[in-house]
Formats: sequence, C-alpha cells, structure tokens
Amino acid sequence: MDLKIFDRLESEVRGYIRSFPVVFKQAKGATLVDETGREYIDFFAGAGTLNYGHNNPLFKQKLVEYLESDGIVHGLDMATGAKRTLLETFERVLLKPRNWKYTLQFTGPTGTNAVEAALKLARQVKGRPNVISFTHGFHGLSGGSLAVTANAKYREAAGVSHANTVFMPYDGYFGPDVDTIVYLERMLEDRSSGLDKPAAVIVETVQGEGGINVASLRWLKELQRVCRAHDMLLIVDDIQAGCGRTGSFFSFEPAGIQPDIITLSKSLSGFGLPMSLVLMKPELDVWQPGAHTGTFRGNNLAFVTATAALDHYWTNAAFASDTQRKERIARDHLENIVQSYPGAGLSVRGRGLMQGLVSQDPTFASKVSKKAFEQGLVIETSGANDEVLKLLPSLTIEDEQLKKGLEIIDRAVADV
Ligand code: PLP
Repeated sequence: MDLKIFDRLESEVRGYIRSFPVVFKQAKGATLVDETGREYIDFFAGAGTLNYGHNNPLFKQKLVEYLESDGIVHGLDMATGAKRTLLETFERVLLKPRNWKYTLQFTGPTGTNAVEAALKLARQVKGRPNVISFTHGFHGLSGGSLAVTANAKYREAAGVSHANTVFMPYDGYFGPDVDTIVYLERMLEDRSSGLDKPAAVIVETVQGEGGINVASLRWLKELQRVCRAHDMLLIVDDIQAGCGRTGSFFSFEPAGIQPDIITLSKSLSGFGLPMSLVLMKPELDVWQPGAHTGTFRGNNLAFVTATAALDHYWTNAAFASDTQRKERIARDHLENIVQSYPGAGLSVRGRGLMQGLVSQDPTFASKVSKKAFEQGLVIETSGANDEVLKLLPSLTIEDEQLKKGLEIIDRAVADV
C-alpha cells in the first residue's frame, strides 16, 4: 500500500499511521476495509466517536435527504430547522424524562472546545481561578484543557503549566482501601494547606485516555457532596464515557448525581461529524452574546444525525440493556484471558463497552495491539505509558464480531 505521500507531506505528529500502517478506504458498522480489500474488526470506533458504528444506514439516509433538500450545512449559531429539531429531541428524549433543567451551549467542533468553555464559565461564575482535576485525567490538548490534563508528557514540552489546576488523586489512586475523597475534603478544610478555594472540579467517570480508570458510583456521589459543601461547581467531562458508552446515555446517571456542567462531544453526532456541547444549570448561563464564540458552532449535518441517534437509540430502553449485555460478553472473555495467564500480572477494568486489559509490563498493550492488527483487529492503547489495551467497539457491534475481536485479542496475548 502506498503511504509515501503521508510520509512526505504530513507532520510526524500523526500517530495512528504507525499503529495501523495501511490506507483505509471504507467502513460499515464495526468493519473497516483497507485499499487491498482486507477487512478489520474495529475496536477503536474513531476514538469513541462512532458508538453507532461507521456509516450507520439510518443516519446516512437522514443526511442524504437533508442535503438533497438543500438544508443549511453551516449556520454559526443562527436558528435553523435542524437545530430546532435537535433541541426539541434533546429535551424530549434526555431532559424531560429525567426532569432535568439544563441550558445548552454549542461550543464548536471538538471536545476540547466544550472543555474550554466549561472551565471559562465556571471561573467566571465563581470569580475564582482554581480548578480541581484528577491524576490521569484527560480533557484535551489546547491551552486551557491541557492545564487540567494530568499527563505531563503532553504539557511540559508545549510550555503549558498547570497553573490554577490542583491535581487530586482519582478514585483508587492510593489503592482500594483509602478514600481519596477524604483526602480532598481535608485539603479543602485545612486552611494551612495553601489551597485557595477552587471554582470547580472537573472529572471523568471513567478515564479513557488515562487508562480506563473507573470511579466508583459512591465516590462520584461523595464528590458531588464535597462540591456542594464547598461551593464548587461539578463539571463532568462526559466526552468519551458519555453518549451511551458505559450503558446509560450520561455515564454518571447510575451514581444518581446531577453535575452543574456537562461536556459532550465524540459520539454525540452519532456519525463521526464534529460537534460539542456544554450543558449547564440554567442559573450558570451568565454569558452575553459574543462572550464565547467560534466559527464552527453550527454543524447542521451533525445536528441532523445527532437527532436521529437520540430518537432512534435512546427512546428505546432496550439499547442500554443491550450495551450492558455486550459488556458482559467482553468482560467474561477478558477475565478468562487474565485467568489463562496467572503469572502475567494482567487485570481488567472498565464500564460498559469501555474496557481495558491492563498489564504491569508497559510494552504489553502496544505489542498486543500490533499482533491483533496483523490478525485483523484495530485496537488502541491508553494510559500514561500506553500500558492498557483499550476496547472501545461501537455499541451496535454484532455479537459475532465482538466475539471474533475478543478471540483475536486472545491469540495476540498468547503471541506476545
Ligand atoms: N475530554 C475527554 C474525556 C476526552 O476523552 C477527550 C478526547 O479524547 C477530550 C476531552 C478532547 O476531545 P477532542 O479530542 O475532541 O478535542
């Protein structure tokens, strides 16, 4: 396969060409096809942007109909019919049934745009600069989001400090028996700790890029309690774990919490079309027109497919339970792998269809990913040192394909 033009013209910053050195040309559901016609099972799903699979036929049909009607493609934040339908659907499918009140802000094409807006807003509302983030947290790679991203490898070379960010230990950081919330609360209460009261806490319920670390539901509930007790806004960054990835539309729902601010992106459009959203409690909607803008906030094609995704998948409770059933399939299989290699120090963690196979050996996950690719599975790694094999298949993957992919992992583990 001819990769020369990529080497000649594209910056070395590109990473996936090294992990998957082929030219892909087609995709459908959970199958990717390269230029030679070779098929791959996709356990990567566009880094979690394709929860409903590649080229979902239902959304494609809606898009084609919309384009053929000369629908508005881009409209900044002008009112359009496509946006109205999305807002109505969002309210009907997600807000009303939960009796939730949120104001929505369309923040731009990528997740990072939503995080930047959430942080700016929280600081402005509270009039305080500090924000608490967590070890292994990942919130994006632009200036503000990078400052709350824990992994120093992204930050230091770029000269971005974590000024105004206070990193606290994520759930489980001290091991299973020590409650990191107690630590956080002591820091907040201890005036000699030097910690100025933060405006907000930003957290992922499952840390995707940080290595599939899962916060317990009790921990999340406690975190909300501490935020309320100390007048801090709770921002849940649901960009990767949200949109159904962990079983419920919002990943924090099983914890029974209701964050002040929620960020969504990745699978929100359902079709891989760029779009991000901030949900804020209505009293936080303090910005005047122009306070936070950006050109590409009006991707109406994404509005069309997002509407179809909400309407088709999330009006049907069976979709969530089907995701949980597939989680069981993945989980059982991975736990079998762990038991098959008792000396290898492997373990499994995750929630929903966001699962990680973890090794003590930092080279394990990338070696397995490489072997798996040779056998026709696209799967990525995550964690501070890429020590976790990250399973992120589409939620609509067929059982048979899911099992086939898991069997490839099995064989790849045996090979490394
Ligand atoms: N927040 C979380 C939890 C993410 O996983 C990511 C991306 O992986 C981001 C923010 C940044 O999103 P984007 O890469 O679309 O800017």
